[in-house]
Amino acid sequence: MTSFKRHIQHHLIKLKSLVKAQGYHSPQLNERLLEVEASNPDCFETALFNFTVDFELIWGNGREGDRDHSVQRRVEYAVKQAQAFPAFIKLLEETRFSASWAVLGKLANYDILPSEDEAFNPAWSKNWYDGQYKNLETNLWDGTSYLENIKKCVAPQEILSHGHAHIDYGDDSVTESVARWDMETSLFELKDSDCDVKGFVYPCNRHNYQHLLVENNIKIIRGQNKNWSITDDLIQTPLGFWISPAIYSYKDIFALIDRAVEKRSFVHPWMHMVECDLKQDDIENFYRPIFEYVLELESKGKIKNVSFDEIRQTLRKTE
Ligand SMILES: [Zn+2]
Repeated sequence: MTSFKRHIQHHLIKLKSLVKAQGYHSPQLNERLLEVEASNPDCFETALFNFTVDFELIWGNGREGDRDHSVQRRVEYAVKQAQAFPAFIKLLEETRFSASWAVLGKLANYDILPSEDEAFNPAWSKNWYDGQYKNLETNLWDGTSYLENIKKCVAPQEILSHGHAHIDYGDDSVTESVARWDMETSLFELKDSDCDVKGFVYPCNRHNYQHLLVENNIKIIRGQNKNWSITDDLIQTPLGFWISPAIYSYKDIFALIDRAVEKRSFVHPWMHMVECDLKQDDIENFYRPIFEYVLELESKGKIKNVSFDEIRQTLRKTE
C-alpha cells in the first residue's frame, strides 16, 4: 500500500505537471518575458539593468475613483515608507548596489505653493496641496533627511525628478502653466538641495508636455512602452515594470534577467518603498538576492547596472 508520504509526493507531481500544462510561469512573468524581447540599441554590448525607487512619502497623492487618496491611506503608506527606508539604504550599502530614485520636489521643499493658475485642481480633488499633513510626525512629510541619506550612500545613487507634487500630467485639467510650474519647481528645488538631476519620471507614468522637459534641459525620461524612443531632443527608455514581492518571487526576476541577458535588453523594475514589507523579510527574501544576482552577472560581463544618465551618455557618444 502506498504510504501517506508517497501519496502526497505523487499528488504533488501531478499538481506540478498540471501547473506546467497551464504555463510554468505566472501570467505576469510571461508578460515581462515578452517585453524584454526588444533588444537595446547597438551601442550597448550587453543587457542593461536599472532599478528605480519612486519615492514620495506622504505627498504621493493620486486618484481613487472620483476623489483623492484618503488621509488614512496616505498616512499608512507614509509610515511604511519611513519604516522601510533605513533598511533599504542599508541593503544598498551592504551590497554596494547603485539604484535610481525618482523623488518629488516636495521632499526638498514642502512649503512652496503654486499660484491659482499654476495649481493642479481637477474636479475630483478636494485640495491637492493640503498642508494638514505637516501636523504629523516630521519623518512622514519632510523629505530632506531622506535626500541626505540617498546622497551620502556609499554606493552612488542617482536622483531623478518625479515632478513636484505628484500631479497627474495626463489629467484633462492640466494646462501648460500647471505642468510648467510643477516640473520647473521640482527641478529647481532638487538642484537647490544639491541633487544633480538629469532625468525625469512622470507620476503614474502619465506623459504630457514633454517639450517643457526638453526646455528645462532634461534629456532622458522613463518611456511609455517596451521600446526605446530616441530623438535629437529626448531619450525615452522602455517603460519597464512595477516590481513587487507580492507578485513575483526572486526566482521569477532571475528568469527575467536571464532572458534579458540572452536578448541583450533592458530590465527596468521600479518600486515604491511601501511595497518593501519588513515583516515579510522582503529585504532578505527578495531585494537582496536580486541585487546580488545582477552584480554577479555584471562581474561576468553579462549585464550592466546603469543610471539613466549613464544610458544617456552612452547613447549620445555614439552619435
Ligand atoms: Zn509616483
